[in-house]
Amino acid sequence: MSLGQAASPAAAPPAAAAPVLRFPPAPAPRPRPAAPILLSPPELTGGELAALREVLDSGWIAPAGPAPAAFEAALAAATGIPHQLATTSGTAALHLGYRLLGVEPGDEVWTSTLTFVATIAPAVQMGAVPRFLDVAPESWTLDPGLLERELARAARRGRLPRAVVPVDLFGQSCDLDAIAALCDRWGVPVLCDSAAALGASRRGRHAGQGARLAAFSFNGNKIVTTDGGGALASDDAALIARARHLAAQAKEPAAHYQHEVTGYAYGLSAVLAGLGLAQLPALGARVAARRAVFERYRAGLGALPGLGFMPEPGWSRANRWLSVALFRRPAGAPDREAVRRALAAAGIESRPVWKPLHLQPVFRAAPRAGGAVAAGLFAEGLCLPSGSGLGPAQQDRVVAAIRQVAGG
Ligand SMILES: *Cc1c(COP(=O)(O)O)cnc(C)c1O
Repeated sequence: MSLGQAASPAAAPPAAAAPVLRFPPAPAPRPRPAAPILLSPPELTGGELAALREVLDSGWIAPAGPAPAAFEAALAAATGIPHQLATTSGTAALHLGYRLLGVEPGDEVWTSTLTFVATIAPAVQMGAVPRFLDVAPESWTLDPGLLERELARAARRGRLPRAVVPVDLFGQSCDLDAIAALCDRWGVPVLCDSAAALGASRRGRHAGQGARLAAFSFNGNKIVTTDGGGALASDDAALIARARHLAAQAKEPAAHYQHEVTGYAYGLSAVLAGLGLAQLPALGARVAARRAVFERYRAGLGALPGLGFMPEPGWSRANRWLSVALFRRPAGAPDREAVRRALAAAGIESRPVWKPLHLQPVFRAAPRAGGAVAAGLFAEGLCLPSGSGLGPAQQDRVVAAIRQVAGG
């Protein structure tokens, strides 16, 4: 039957003898399906509408004007990194970072293998060769000891990377002090992917502070959101001034738009910056809320055999953007995928730890150093619902569902 034809009416059922009425037992009352529990949903502060109205009233419906500038000033205050450019995304901030560091086709760019693809994608798109380094078991972030050995080897061969890009994993700062000191020794700049680490710190300094450049994200799943957005940050005013120029199409000051180089349309819109201004004051409370979520998981699940959690070294204060549990099968834990599927069946979203980039098909030919630690964390690690608005009753549901699979 073609879609244009009307369906013919169903034939009338033949008249049947009057049935003997036998009532089935009343069905057990079906529980109303509980609302799904998401991994890291956005949360509103209540100040967003007023902030949006203020931006709209200002007349700046553009990636320019007082709102992005005020958001950048608020980010500088929140992070202690004085120079900030608000961008359309964290990925855009990373792309600008690679451009500022002069990444060219054939250059090596080194990063932690345990990360989201956006860390390295812009460099790859610029023709760089990515090289993936393993993480340290104590922090799950770039292993400084491995980096030290690899930098020394690369220097002997005369082939140092154009940039080293450590990652603040799941809201835990990498050991940036050690990493920056090693890279300084060889004159290699550090671009820190702090996309998920707003509000995190190490040794009293904010995540990303002390790198040549740091990138932040305000995507809807992050701890503070502008819907979509990001920022590139640096202690170096000239670097951020150049990023600002590139992010606004690299227009030279001339009435006719003169161009020495080509740029991008990467400036954060004023409207979204307004959202960010309403969100940012909640940062401290959200870090506390996400850390409390982590502690409740530890209290509720910690006794299960084979269960582990993402460690927090003594030098780190993570924002616990995502709470990550390890299901160590040799120690008696159930299979990570069995847990994930059981949670999904209960309407609870969870996600495996990042698949290490050296195991991704797109990077199968990329050079690497180690990777076994990251691969093990991928096999056993599960990111649990971690939103700052996750209530104790919802979290009890998650804990109960895991206990059920784990036989606890
Ligand atoms: C979120 C995230 C990004 C990308 O940020 P967007 O704003 O989504 O472009 C990059 N790296 C890491 C580690 C992230 O978590």
